[in-house]
Amino acid sequence: MSLVVQKFGGTSVGDADRIRAVADHVARTRRAGRDVLVVVSAMGKTTDDLLRLAGDVSSVQPPRELDMLLTSGERVSMALLCMALAELGVEAVSFTGSQAGIITDATHTKAKIVEVRGDRLREALAAGKVPVVAGFQGVSTDRDVTTLGRGGSDTTAVALAASLSADACEIYTDVTGVFSADPRIVPEARRLARVSFEEMLEIAASGGRVLALRSVEFARNHHVPLHVRSSFTWEPGTWVSEEDPLMEQAVVTAVTHDASEAKVTVTGVPDRPGLAARLFRALAERNVNVDTIVQNISLHGTTDISFTVPKVDLAASLEVARDLAPGIGAGEVLSDDDVAKVSIVGAGMRSHPGISAKMFEVLAQQGVNIEMISTSSIRISCVVRAGAVESAVQALHEAFDLAG
Ligand code: ADP
Ligand code: ASP
Ligand code: MG
Repeated sequence: MSLVVQKFGGTSVGDADRIRAVADHVARTRRAGRDVLVVVSAMGKTTDDLLRLAGDVSSVQPPRELDMLLTSGERVSMALLCMALAELGVEAVSFTGSQAGIITDATHTKAKIVEVRGDRLREALAAGKVPVVAGFQGVSTDRDVTTLGRGGSDTTAVALAASLSADACEIYTDVTGVFSADPRIVPEARRLARVSFEEMLEIAASGGRVLALRSVEFARNHHVPLHVRSSFTWEPGTWVSEEDPLMEQAVVTAVTHDASEAKVTVTGVPDRPGLAARLFRALAERNVNVDTIVQNISLHGTTDISFTVPKVDLAASLEVARDLAPGIGAGEVLSDDDVAKVSIVGAGMRSHPGISAKMFEVLAQQGVNIEMISTSSIRISCVVRAGAVESAVQALHEAFDLAG
């Protein structure tokens, strides 16, 4: 029988009525003759509330305990959904990430999945039951409970879809698909009917949080088609899949923004081989994901290196840079968390010159100063003042004519 994985995000299971609506949809899918495996997020803003509670209790939050705390949110939703399904006569059985056999490395708060065992899920499916799995969590090779980073339920869903060879993974959320920009900022943004894995990777990596980046990597590597759609209207949404070689590629597909990063600058770094390597190795050892990096020209034998890191890793990054600076003869280490990044993504960019010029002109017309620039073959990103990012997104969306 065909298997579909259905993942429901926080808003989709935000209260009792929503959970009943989700149960109804799962029951219909089951009655239509398909096997279903469900992955749920924590209800509404539960994860944020738990983080706030941790902050109220203590300024010291050991990552192992943070993970133990945060995984409780998803347990609540999975049990409630199974109860709602039971009332509809659907046999469902809940599993924590650990019970589902999701094995991760031991990097608490942003663990990576290393293996999916999934035996109990296969058994439940074979017995005609609907497994309901708590998203965002696993168990480490050290046998501790871990979480997969914010938005990680998407990753759980895609990893399970890959491991169980599901036909597709449906990601139900509070918008009707992937849009040409965040519809909260650009109300006239257009829903995209299809997006290639390649473009979706860049959209997710540059702040389009509708899908977690790791989930898209998994989907691409294991050829799992994703269908991003609404749990409020249930209408067909956006398919994320392999590129169609016959389809003409849009020059610009989407404008994204990301306010979750901060900028660090190490001043007066001696211009010698090996020093940047030492800095970024030390950051890597603390599991900091460095994004944009800019090194200035060397004046009088020294240079400044600026880079962006997730705000949650800013304290660790400053500690690393400040520990290292005196030993390599560098000067001050500065930080700035009032920045944001605006990006344009499009596969057709590769074969169209002048796109970066147009992006910079649009930003200039808005009076937006560009502080850092980074590019891939299908993305251009600019770091700007945080306060300017929304108007920058709106102006770029209009200039590249992305509205429906
Ligand atoms: P869930 O809780 O269902 O995982 P998220 O909040 O993680 O939902 O993701 C959905 C949100 O992503 C939307 O409400 C929307 O504001 C935001 N978003 C950002 N960029 C985009 C985009 N390009 N297309 C669609 N949604 C986007
Ligand atoms: N509940 C987690 C979060 O808010 C995981 C998820 O929803 O995907 O980040
Ligand atoms: Mg999400």
